[in-house]
Amino acid sequence: MVIDQQSLDRLEAMLDGGPKKIVVVSHTNPDGDAIGSSLAWRRILEKKGHDARCVVPNKYPYFLDWMADISKVGVFKEDTSGEIARFIGEADLIFCLDFNLIGRLEGLGSTIEANTRAKCVLIDHHLDPPAGFDLVFSYPQECSTSYIVYKLIERYSGLAMLDYPAAEALYVGIMTDTGNFSYSNLSADLFRAVAHLVEKGVDIPFINTAIYNGFSESRVRLLGYALNDNMTVMRDYGVGFITLRESELRRFRFLPGDSEGFVNYPLSIKGVRMSAMFLETRQFIRVSLRSRGDVDVNVFARKYFGGGGHRNAAGGKSFVDMAATVEHFRAAVREFFGPAEDDRK
Ligand code: 5GP
Ligand code: MN
Repeated sequence: MVIDQQSLDRLEAMLDGGPKKIVVVSHTNPDGDAIGSSLAWRRILEKKGHDARCVVPNKYPYFLDWMADISKVGVFKEDTSGEIARFIGEADLIFCLDFNLIGRLEGLGSTIEANTRAKCVLIDHHLDPPAGFDLVFSYPQECSTSYIVYKLIERYSGLAMLDYPAAEALYVGIMTDTGNFSYSNLSADLFRAVAHLVEKGVDIPFINTAIYNGFSESRVRLLGYALNDNMTVMRDYGVGFITLRESELRRFRFLPGDSEGFVNYPLSIKGVRMSAMFLETRQFIRVSLRSRGDVDVNVFARKYFGGGGHRNAAGGKSFVDMAATVEHFRAAVREFFGPAEDDRK
């Protein structure tokens, strides 16, 4: 990927002329890429002399707790003092990382829309960025926002400014969004970037253990339960799905992030090319979709669940109960893939 000079010049112009107040925002249910890219970019902005803060709509998963600076990430939902809203009101610039729809920010989105006079810059890898941003770094063919931030740092400040914590944050983002370097959008240049992160001291076995072996016991038991009791395979369509109701989540003392990765398991069954997970929350059912190859879950999520995402990873929401959601999903699968003889549990 190449960042064009004109966009870079505009970025520099926005950041020139003395210290700025800057908010680095990422999406609801922030994942490794959302947090990793935000932490790294904020660090560079700080090194350039700006007053920059990371803000997310709701709490990040506990398996990212160990990351440098994470305790300084503002969680909008938990801020009863109104301090985050005030900072947003005073901000000169807002960077939107790893999402492209303000609607994905829930309450934080309306606060931004109502309060800000700041210019908004998008740095993201999701499809179809809408108009309305003052500057856009959108590369939907890239594996992660963290990799885009790496390329941006390379051009904007130079990699000398990339210190160990920032390198580690970018590695976390790249690693988690590529399924530990196993998805399709990997490039030689990505590995060159990763090699550079390793040169900065990134300790891959340490990060692997921190992210993938840092779960609670109840999370591992919930996974076992979800796969054994709550997974349905529609063999004739090559589709698998998992349901998790609120009462079940309570039983397993569910914490945000605990179901991260569950949706990938049905895809590990031979012949399954699309998987879904339905996670019940108080307000709606969160829909996660994953696929292999040409099956486009971005299209599926848009068409049937008012969402979107990437070709092989997407999501949306359902505002009816679990039984109706599953019925809607089954009908959607039949329509999407065309008629098949039979489907069974
Ligand atoms: P996850 O299943 O990990 O929550 O989401 C996977 C991907 O789907 C995200 O990176 C994001 O691109 C997309 N996604 C998830 N939920 C939504 C949603 O409600 N709306 C849109 N537009 N995209 C979503
Ligand atoms: Mn991402």
